[in-house]
Amino acid sequence: MSIVVINAGSSSIKYTVYKAQSLEVIQHGLIEEVSDYNDAFLQMQEDLLYHNINLREIEGFVHRVVHGGEKFHKPVVIDNEVIHEITHLIPLAPLHNPANLKGIIAARNIAPNVPHIAIFDTSFHQSMPEYVYRYPLPHDLYEHYRIRKYGFHGTSHDYVSQKASQWLGKPINELNLITFHIGNGVSACAIAKGISIDTSMGMTPLEGLMMGSRSGSIDPSIVGYLMREKGLSIDEIDVLLNKQSGLKAIAGTNDLRSIINAKESGDLHATLAVEMFCYRLRKQLGEYMAILNGVDAIIFTGGIGEHSHLVRKEVCKNLSHLGIRIDETRNLSNATDIHSDQSKVKLLVIPTDEEYQMAFYAQRKIFQP
Ligand code: ADP
Repeated sequence: MSIVVINAGSSSIKYTVYKAQSLEVIQHGLIEEVSDYNDAFLQMQEDLLYHNINLREIEGFVHRVVHGGEKFHKPVVIDNEVIHEITHLIPLAPLHNPANLKGIIAARNIAPNVPHIAIFDTSFHQSMPEYVYRYPLPHDLYEHYRIRKYGFHGTSHDYVSQKASQWLGKPINELNLITFHIGNGVSACAIAKGISIDTSMGMTPLEGLMMGSRSGSIDPSIVGYLMREKGLSIDEIDVLLNKQSGLKAIAGTNDLRSIINAKESGDLHATLAVEMFCYRLRKQLGEYMAILNGVDAIIFTGGIGEHSHLVRKEVCKNLSHLGIRIDETRNLSNATDIHSDQSKVKLLVIPTDEEYQMAFYAQRKIFQP
């Protein structure tokens, strides 16, 4: 018997099939150029049959949903009310929730008799206190327009913090952690006694750190200024800040590997991009060191966090006054623990696995409801 993890995007559907008991991966798949989601799921069904996986053997589906708003604090079994609520959240995540929803509806069409579970990128951060998640704006904007910090990448921050707890041999509720998910999207999370108390992304994934093609936080007045002075529409500004900013704007590409190669050949824009990127991560580290009452470990994950020793070094260097000492040799070798013996704060590199975490929660929901 198996569990299928679904990540339905606007033009592709990724799926991974796990053994329901052992959570071993049986099959990965990707359906591209999706226009009709029902057709895409029929294709998935055929692909699975080709690999000898019959729909009858599937115990449940688990769907990634980007925005869960304030309603969803944990994984839920999808019913009509959950579908209604995800629909109601579309204005907060217009790029993501519609595709997630189409995936859910099409998957329920091909497998109506098994549980479908939704896991939200936001739910791990629902534990943030109100003084953290509120913006200093009129109450009405929170109460009627739902404007507040939600945070994203929750499944990844959750997964790597659990892994860190296993690695350190200490229960998660006794650990204070800073987790950095650094890929194309970039976010950090301050975790106190296992619970997210702050995160860098906001009402949308645009807030916070510099990213592959997103600006991260900028002076909000820039938006009005560009509308008045450059005549940009709000949609053009959305595209500018989400798709044409970040590393891509400064270095010409969002691929950090190429940027580092260009930097090594003396490219000044690439050098600036790396400096800007690492400076913001480092500043974030300082913020979270200040709000957590002592930090046990800092965790790096995501394509860049897992693979770029340069970024990890730039973030952690010269921080011995905060109890942070990176071991250069271990860092270069991509070891799991990259702190030196004298470091009070452990530095860990932990590959993220959001699909596994989704399958894990689905397993618990299906077998221990
Ligand atoms: P996404 O957020 O789209 O899942 P990833 O987590 O895969 O993205 O991260 C992609 C980023 O990781 C790219 O900028 C890529 O250049 C960078 N990356 C991957 N491997 C390395 C490496 N060995 N050194 C530096 N950067 C790397």
